[in-house]
Amino acid sequence: MRLLMKFGGTSVADAGSVRRVVEIVSEHIAKGDEIALVVSAQRGVTDQLIAIADEVMECQGTECIGPFIESLRLRHMRAIEGAAPDHIDEVRTAVESILVDLAGILHAVHQLRELTPRSRDYIITFGERLNALVVCTAMKQAKVPALVLDGCEAGIVTTEQHGEAMALPAGEARIRSRLVPLLGKTVPVIMGFMGCTGGGTVTTLGRSGSDYSAAILGSGIDADEIWIWTDVDGIMSSDPRLISDARVIPSISYLEVMELSFFGAKVMHPRSIEPAMRKNLPVRVKNTFNPAHPGTAIIRKVTCESRVVKAITYIDRVAAVNINGAQMIGRPGVARAIFSALAEHEVNVMMISQGSSEANISLIIEDSQEEVAIEALRDLVHRGLVREVTSNRDVAAVAVVGAGMIGAVGTGGRIFTALGNGGVNVIMISQGSSEVNISFVVRKEDGPRTVRILHDEFRLSEECHE
Ligand code: ADP
Ligand code: ASP
Ligand code: MG
Repeated sequence: MRLLMKFGGTSVADAGSVRRVVEIVSEHIAKGDEIALVVSAQRGVTDQLIAIADEVMECQGTECIGPFIESLRLRHMRAIEGAAPDHIDEVRTAVESILVDLAGILHAVHQLRELTPRSRDYIITFGERLNALVVCTAMKQAKVPALVLDGCEAGIVTTEQHGEAMALPAGEARIRSRLVPLLGKTVPVIMGFMGCTGGGTVTTLGRSGSDYSAAILGSGIDADEIWIWTDVDGIMSSDPRLISDARVIPSISYLEVMELSFFGAKVMHPRSIEPAMRKNLPVRVKNTFNPAHPGTAIIRKVTCESRVVKAITYIDRVAAVNINGAQMIGRPGVARAIFSALAEHEVNVMMISQGSSEANISLIIEDSQEEVAIEALRDLVHRGLVREVTSNRDVAAVAVVGAGMIGAVGTGGRIFTALGNGGVNVIMISQGSSEVNISFVVRKEDGPRTVRILHDEFRLSEECHE
């Protein structure tokens, strides 16, 4: 089998987990599988890089840079010492050279007091740069031939949208020609989360973007399957950190996973399904710390839909924007003006609901975009198209997902009756036309309780015979 395996930050957080990764890969190679690897930064490193990029803009001298670089050196050298003891000396030089580059760019940002989206993107890829080296060296320790490639060398070509770049079809042939000849001879260890523009500038694919790298690369090499290795047994009926009796879902469709990840299920990056879906490539989510567990298979269509609802997710980093005004009634073009203004400011709208009187439109957006959205819509007030625009961060968006809802009568009734009985007030409702998702908005403090009530209502912790 040709497999694209992605190991997330939780799976490669220290020497012990890196050794596990090597064991898993070695077993597959021994069976004759062709493997390409995508690795993320070690857990927490990307957050630290984002923080230091902002910090160097503000700190008086450069004293914040040295200790930070030292902490990265220690952490990654410790992982190498534990996972590749015979290669410490040769790899030390490579680690040093990466750290010199990073320190150089941090100093430059500090001197110029200028952090452009380009330089930020470059800085935040250093977690992947260091960790791919760690994993590749650990493979060599196990006598598995391996080679580090950055996302650009692996052939990922993206748009210029720094921080949220999207893969371009131009990369596909490039990925194939660069990676396929290596397979079976060596294991490409590819830095996740990054690509580059046609002109060669480094871009990043959005937080958790290594999942997206895996899908782009898996599709590019025509992998038989893409395996996403993480720290839980698979995609679960809800976030196990919130719902302790959440259950692993044995198989789930591409569309269902897209909805789940869009509404906050951190286990997959929302855009990572599309490239696999286009080619009908099965994606499997598995646990690095429990590899015997079959995990979750993500496929086009799950044949037996024994459950109406499969999973419940919620996201609380959102804001509700309400646009009101009697002048909106029966007036063509208001909705267009609203969405154009938001699109011009690159505000991503997650949910929309319009009152039947047409005097009110409510939107759910990421809370980080609240100010930009309000600013964008203020112009519509000035132009007399709407009367007022208000916003509220005290909200959470909840999504109930399951392909079994297609054509099943009464799921909405069951959801809202259960919530009514539980005393949860629903602020806004929206049903996507895909019918695999009913999403709605509650007060932020009610979010976790809402998920609990619905998880119980649909008995999602009980075994299901699929
Ligand atoms: P990785 O470092 O492997 O990319 P992430 O932390 O990004 O791992 O994603 C895995 C985490 O996603 C799990 O530890 C779990 O807490 C969280 N999660 C949220 N919702 C779900 C869900 N529905 N199913 C499984 N995991 C979920
Ligand atoms: N390291 C990146 C992040 O933390 C990408 C990833 O983990 O998938 O967002
Ligand atoms: Mg992740």
